[in-house]
Amino acid sequence: MSHSPSLIPEIVASAEEFIALRHRIHRHPEIGFEEVATSKLVADSLRSWGYEVTTGIGGTGVVGQLKLGNSNKRLGIRADMDALPIKENTGLPYASEIDGKMHACGHDGHTATLLAAAKYLAQTRKFDGTLNLIFQPAEEGLGGAARMIKEGLFELFPCDAVFSLHNAPSLPIGQFALRAGAMAASSDSVTITLQGKGGHGAMPHFTQDPIVAAASIVMGLQTIVSRNIDAAETAVVTVGALQAGTAPNVIPDSAKLLLTIRALAVPVQTLIEERLRKLVKHQAESFNVSAEIEYKHISRVVVNTPDETAFARKVLTEMVGVNHVIPMPTGLLGSEDFSWMLEQVPGCYVLIGNGVGKHGGCMIHNPGYDFNDEALVYGASYWGHLAQAFLTA
Ligand SMILES: [Zn+2]
Ligand SMILES: [Zn+2]
Repeated sequence: MSHSPSLIPEIVASAEEFIALRHRIHRHPEIGFEEVATSKLVADSLRSWGYEVTTGIGGTGVVGQLKLGNSNKRLGIRADMDALPIKENTGLPYASEIDGKMHACGHDGHTATLLAAAKYLAQTRKFDGTLNLIFQPAEEGLGGAARMIKEGLFELFPCDAVFSLHNAPSLPIGQFALRAGAMAASSDSVTITLQGKGGHGAMPHFTQDPIVAAASIVMGLQTIVSRNIDAAETAVVTVGALQAGTAPNVIPDSAKLLLTIRALAVPVQTLIEERLRKLVKHQAESFNVSAEIEYKHISRVVVNTPDETAFARKVLTEMVGVNHVIPMPTGLLGSEDFSWMLEQVPGCYVLIGNGVGKHGGCMIHNPGYDFNDEALVYGASYWGHLAQAFLTA
């Protein structure tokens, strides 16, 4: 590996230790709220470096706090710890040893990266203020961030700003990408259950057919983005599953639709929900079936605040140079539950290059994906520089 000169030497020197730790986490992936061993590894490591450690916040969440000097500045840095229910197919020597579970989003890398910075910051003691390292469970659609907040995260550990990162396949190693404003989309998960009355396929007039209603609703939903949302805004309404019926000559009692909804602005997210509820209710009524809607807000729009984004950009530019800090023209349609933290506290979420082609270019949530170990020193140096620049007298 060849490194940029402004990476932190102590972190570069400890790279092998934290790469080994990342492989250890990778071998034993734990999905949301089941991160018992990962959480213990994090807590034990933080304690051994002198952090005051709080466990059990948001189930398996961990916060490590270190106060130095007299400054009243308070910084939060967050990493996620959970794996996915995917069968790994990388063939790596440190591949998952747990069938059907895998670190396919690189949260093993995010955790190891923050731990590498944690050790460096505790051992060098070159900051003044309160450092809160937040290790979050259950980022993958299970509500880990929201649960930590509900259980008092920011009352117990007040932060003036909070930062996080995510690896980005196809962004070269040593590069970062960010933008102020909407950085990643909101994600809502919707289940629509249509209840009608089944019967013989040859005598539909004795039934209340949920399939015809479902088909009409699927088409109707397409008009939310095309007819209700400003064409200059970004939104997606996807029906990912339509479940009904078992036989050609039987009209079933019920039908189920499963949807994912994405938006890059809170008012758009709100408008989609309003339109969806009305459209489904009235369409169902018009077909003489009833509709039950279960609307889950998985994550909000990730909104990077201007001052904190400028601060992150400055730290990154000093570290890797202006050509390696990529301004993003638009936000991502992917989602991230760090958004719940950014609703409480100003902050910034950045992407860190995971490499291109065979070395880190495989997309996240794919059975062939792996976090690129070469990214670790860049992420950890970013956290080291950021903490030292933020926490000053
Ligand atoms: Zn993911
Ligand atoms: Zn992720």
